[in-house]
Amino acid sequence: MKRSFVSPPRYLQGPGALDELGRHVNDLGGRALLVTDDVVVDVVGEDVDRSFSAAGTAYHTALFGGECTEDEIARLTEVARSEETDVVVGMGGGKVIDVAKGIRGQAGGGLVTVPTVASTDAPTSGLSVVYTDDGHIAGGLVHRERPDLVLVDTDVIASAPRRWFVSGVGDALATRFEAEATMKSGGQTFAGGRPSQAGVALAERCYDVLRTHAPAAVDAAGDGTVTEALEETVEAIVLLSGLGFENGGLAAAHAVHDGIVAATETTATHGEKVCLGLLTQLVLEGRPEETVREVARFAHDLGLPVTLADVGVAAGRVEAVAEGAFGDESSIHNQPGDPTPSAVVEALYAADELGRSLE
Ligand SMILES: [Zn+2]
Repeated sequence: MKRSFVSPPRYLQGPGALDELGRHVNDLGGRALLVTDDVVVDVVGEDVDRSFSAAGTAYHTALFGGECTEDEIARLTEVARSEETDVVVGMGGGKVIDVAKGIRGQAGGGLVTVPTVASTDAPTSGLSVVYTDDGHIAGGLVHRERPDLVLVDTDVIASAPRRWFVSGVGDALATRFEAEATMKSGGQTFAGGRPSQAGVALAERCYDVLRTHAPAAVDAAGDGTVTEALEETVEAIVLLSGLGFENGGLAAAHAVHDGIVAATETTATHGEKVCLGLLTQLVLEGRPEETVREVARFAHDLGLPVTLADVGVAAGRVEAVAEGAFGDESSIHNQPGDPTPSAVVEALYAADELGRSLE
């Protein structure tokens, strides 16, 4: 089987990076469709306007409706066409960015992703997770092209609520283990084909950076102070994890996430669900209890969930979660040893028991 590696051509991260948005959008074609929401406009609207004005870049703001659905992508694609924009700028959380990727997929032109929270690794990838109108996952949309630029202003990230930052760490903690599982099973990546050594190496680096810097970064997150630990951790969450999962592959951790979405009405974030999925994956892989406990302890100390109750899985829904982990296009098939739903049920219970022993 072939291997391949994909990435955005440019990544820019640092305090005040938004100042450079207008100039880069200009380089990509000129007139921008800024897809964002009211909350983000309140926080960074003036900075964005100043950046576009300084570069002489025209832009039209289109407010996102709150969920990445096919209808929402179609609605905003119409706006891009009627406004005759050249570049889509998706600014906000993971869902806004996923919608922006969908619009560019339909309307063409350039794409810039500007995460205002480091809550997932969505900004660097060419994947959109599309939801149904009632909030369940309809499927993954793999786009042919990646964002032309990922622009991360760490002044903005450092001021965002800490829970989003912690969630981003939860999403990124799993990347290494999922890439290694995919490599071992001979599974498929979103880049196409089998994992590349480059993809797995980035995933492993992601984990190392988080283990070294995430605790201090989480302490700093939320109060607007950009520390070196925060910079390192943001790069791990957004860039290393994004490239690592797309080129390394997803496995049981994200499959369990999808099962939780399918089987519950949870309000847990993406990264919180992935974190419980990671612990489940480690048990499923037959890792020594000591290893699982060590990862769980690290996650728990950061404020990540480590039990079923923490992520809103009620007693009696565990079988449904496991079943949901085996849906169409599930990444569970990248897990070595062809796990069965009943093995996932057992692993969920074992991870939960271990998690509860920490609390
Ligand atoms: Zn994820």
